[in-house]
Amino acid sequence: MIMAVRKIITLGNPILRQKAQPVSKITKSEQNLIDDMVETMEENEGVGLAANQIAVPKRIFVARWEGETFAIINPVIDWKGKEMVKGMEGCLSIPGIQAEVNRHLKIRVKGLDRNGKPIVLEPEGWLARIFQHEIDHLDGILIIDRSDQLFWVTTEKDEEGRERTRLVPTTKSAIIASFQKIKSSVRK
Ligand SMILES: [Zn+2]
Repeated sequence: MIMAVRKIITLGNPILRQKAQPVSKITKSEQNLIDDMVETMEENEGVGLAANQIAVPKRIFVARWEGETFAIINPVIDWKGKEMVKGMEGCLSIPGIQAEVNRHLKIRVKGLDRNGKPIVLEPEGWLARIFQHEIDHLDGILIIDRSDQLFWVTTEKDEEGRERTRLVPTTKSAIIASFQKIKSSVRK
């Protein structure tokens, strides 16, 4: 089987802001797409990836957590627990940024597996967080829309030469402006 790592698009690309379209028929092409998404997620050390992050506007996401890999087509959250939890999230489409995002501790997700079989999952904690992050992507929503606790992640060396990560507070508009600048300098 040939799999391929695809290019992940970043903030500023309009595809990330569009609502992805439901998959009406699962063919070999969707299954290949899922394989590529898993490979791309692993290559980039991510825990989740939505199809529109590789510029394919279809309602599919993949995730991995504690050794298990998930792929869900046309996911729908049909129940959300009342309890909310805050946690730090990063996003492969906004590299260098972390955001403290409030998510439901438990949700129930319905969708289809790679063979078109209906599935129901009830993730909790970090897996529930990953699923909510990825389903947001399919609706064009990013972590910078969900939080005002936004940070640049920088690494610096301490006196003993050890690498330390530091979170530098920033704002949504500063992040958008900075990614816009990256884009226009690449275009030159
Ligand atoms: Zn993301």
